[in-house]
Amino acid sequence: MDRAYDFVVAGGSAAGLVFAAEAAKRGATVLVFEEHSEIGEPEKCDGLVSLRGLRKFGYPPDKGVIQNGIASAVVHSPSGRLFGISASALEVVVLDRSAFDKQLAESARSNGADVQAGTRVASTVEGPDGVEVNAGGTTARAKYFVDATGPASSPPGGIVPAAKYELEGDWFKEHVVEVFMDTERYPGFFAWVIPYGGRKAKVGVAGTGINPFRALDGFLEGRPSRILRRVSAPIYVGGPAPSFVRGRRILVGESAGQVKPTTAGGIMTSVAGAVMAAKWACAAVQKDDPHLLSNYQPEWEASFLKEMKNMLRLRGVFEKLTNADVDALFAALATPRLTRKLSGADFDFHATALLGALGVPGLLRVAKVVASAEVRSLLVDG
Ligand SMILES: Cc1cc2nc3c(=O)[nH]c(=O)nc-3n(C[C@H](O)[C@H](O)[C@H](O)COP(=O)(O)OP(=O)(O)OC[C@H]3O[C@@H](n4cnc5c(N)ncnc54)[C@H](O)[C@@H]3O)c2cc1C
Repeated sequence: MDRAYDFVVAGGSAAGLVFAAEAAKRGATVLVFEEHSEIGEPEKCDGLVSLRGLRKFGYPPDKGVIQNGIASAVVHSPSGRLFGISASALEVVVLDRSAFDKQLAESARSNGADVQAGTRVASTVEGPDGVEVNAGGTTARAKYFVDATGPASSPPGGIVPAAKYELEGDWFKEHVVEVFMDTERYPGFFAWVIPYGGRKAKVGVAGTGINPFRALDGFLEGRPSRILRRVSAPIYVGGPAPSFVRGRRILVGESAGQVKPTTAGGIMTSVAGAVMAAKWACAAVQKDDPHLLSNYQPEWEASFLKEMKNMLRLRGVFEKLTNADVDALFAALATPRLTRKLSGADFDFHATALLGALGVPGLLRVAKVVASAEVRSLLVDG
């Protein structure tokens, strides 16, 4: 039987559930379809996030959802040089991402949204006044369809294969996130270690054109570990989509490319996108004026576009580096002054902070190591 809603959402994860909670809070009727039978499962995300960012957009994690607090980050160059940054002022935590999604589902339901797990959206048909959404053998009608399906529909070209293990071991520190750069083993990305309490860590690698599980097993050679869980999930690093609204389709979260191109972190930026999208989508429904939706993208971009562009430019430089370049950059740049400047920087705006901390003298040093058009553009615009 047909059911009619203001919004039907595909995807019951961070973006879809926050959209649902926010729209329902404003009195809209909302149905969320999540293809998996349990919200939050299977868990792919590592849950590294700044509490400040989530608080700002109204979705701080419940206490029981936080697994660990992060005191510092250490970046390793290919030859073993280290660059450390204190994170104690930044309120960076590791979330139980499955539990966080359940918290968001509870928030959506308690505001009146209908969240239906175990139902995949198979197709949609857009008409002049609304969208027919076919899912689980039934059709639901909506004034607007919200695509929150994540990497399944993120902009083309930015997907990088990744693999991760949750494991137990003694070779990492409980409150220190570590990043390992090696442009041959992990081209275009890196290996990471995110401790989540006691002797446990989420350890992963991503890179273009690699077999990520083989690379991850290579990384763990000499680091004795008991593997608790294996996850294969691509990351998205291609930057925001050119348009977040297409007719009666609204893209939120990773579908809209609302993910950091340097680290593939997307929890906070996707939650922000969902909050903003719901505000303008509800205004469009209440005033029966679809044009109001055109305010959503500029609002998100006003907060994040500059940072996303800086991240994409840093990626452009990083993708061209050899291991020798990375080591030379560490030798030239990893100074106590830079450590000091970055230790107080905003976790969610690290590219802008890095460019600001380097300044023209630092960028000139980068240009000496890497003579590329991308570095010249950083010097001109940075
Ligand atoms: C390995 C890995 C580690 C990560 N670590 C971090 C991190 O530490 N910090 C951070 O900030 N970000 C991290 N991210 C990114 C973060 O997980 C995403 O950016 C964030 O979850 C985006 O939320 P979303 O709701 O847009 O998409 P997703 O979380 O991808 O959710 C999409 C949902 O849509 C559902 N779906 C898909 N198709 C359909 C369909 N047709 N019908 C119904 N449902 C459908 C999926 O099952 C899924 O539940 C990581 C990602 C990966 C892959």
